[in-house]
Amino acid sequence: MDIVILAVVIAVVAVAAIGGLVVTTTRRKKTPPLDRSAPPTITAPPPTEPRVGEEAEAARDEQRRTIEEVDLPPSGATDATVAEAPEPPAAPEIETPAPTAGRLVRLRERLARSQNTLGRGLLTLLSRDHLDEDTWEEIEDTLLTADVGVAPTQELVERLRERVRVLGARTPDELRALLREELLKLVGTDMDRTVHTEGGVSSEGVVRPGVVLVVGVNGTGKTTTTGKLARVLVADGKSVVLGAADTFRAAAADQLQTWGERVGARTVRGPEGGDPASVAFDAVKEGIAENADVVLVDTAGRLHTKTGLMDELGKVKRVVEKHGPVDEVLLVLDATTGQNGLIQARVFAEVVDITGIVLTKLDGTAKGGIVIAVQRELNVPVKLVGLGEGADDLAPFEPEAFVDALIGD
Ligand code: GDP
Repeated sequence: MDIVILAVVIAVVAVAAIGGLVVTTTRRKKTPPLDRSAPPTITAPPPTEPRVGEEAEAARDEQRRTIEEVDLPPSGATDATVAEAPEPPAAPEIETPAPTAGRLVRLRERLARSQNTLGRGLLTLLSRDHLDEDTWEEIEDTLLTADVGVAPTQELVERLRERVRVLGARTPDELRALLREELLKLVGTDMDRTVHTEGGVSSEGVVRPGVVLVVGVNGTGKTTTTGKLARVLVADGKSVVLGAADTFRAAAADQLQTWGERVGARTVRGPEGGDPASVAFDAVKEGIAENADVVLVDTAGRLHTKTGLMDELGKVKRVVEKHGPVDEVLLVLDATTGQNGLIQARVFAEVVDITGIVLTKLDGTAKGGIVIAVQRELNVPVKLVGLGEGADDLAPFEPEAFVDALIGD
């Protein structure tokens, strides 16, 4: 019996020893086998070693990167290079445009330089001892050469003849005063030259910004003028949204956006060659959403055919008017193009109701008389003049400052 018991004990010990070995060996080789009788906390699979290891590695890498970037810039790298990589691109610096009041007086030199031939020429002729027919003809030619236009020229010569006769003996000062007065009458001192941006209430009953459409043939300085006008408005304390509806000229939208960014004005743009009217509509919508004071829309200026222009521009205006009336339609004309400019003015006036004229490049021409001619042609005032390529070289038109620049002090 004892032998039997002993044999059983040996057998049990032997089995236990072999079992233990197997378990130990298995544990060493792989993760613990699932013991279904054990409580859930133990049976739950532990986090896998590799994952923990990877995360740990990643965290260490992160640390290493940070240390390297902050403390150990690669040799030769500038501070700017180091700072550039992790940070978002810096917002463009917002400029403060020059005040608009008195801009024309400040830019008068530029005007005087280009327009001297007209004013000085007239004064020299009028100062002659004998104002014979030849002299009056020369006076007429001087005015026509400066693009004053036939009818205004004849009117001016008539009045000058009359007044010089009454005056009798003439001193240079008297002549200057007389010429100043008569030129001022032709240019007009009682026209409303305000660029209207009042806005109102939209068709949905919400306050809407003032809407200005800028129209004109490509190359006249239309986009540049839209950008400069944004600066004029910002300088006057207004917030502006720009609409890049000149979708036909490849660079126009980029150009406008750059102008806008300089004064913190958002530009709404569409795909190249896209529908200008939908961009214009969206721009006004954005202006309403942003509660902006003014939306300036740069339109497409393809003067391919009158019908084409009418379709495009007419549609832009109609679509924009779904939000409410347009406050101002500014026609941009290049002052150096003379008669051609007047023809453009006529065509545009047939297509849309022009409410104001912008004459660009007055700094580069002696033909300032176009101010008088184009106002006569359209019966619409010149409201702004471009006097250079600088960002603030667009000035509200002031008849007195203009005429003073023509005839000099
Ligand atoms: P757009 O095709 O009518 O939009 O023409 P841009 O706005 O691109 O202008 C055409 C060129 O005219 C650009 O080089 C402008 O800088 C230039 N320009 C615009 N206004 C004036 C101005 O008043 N004086 C001068 N000298 N150049 C101007």
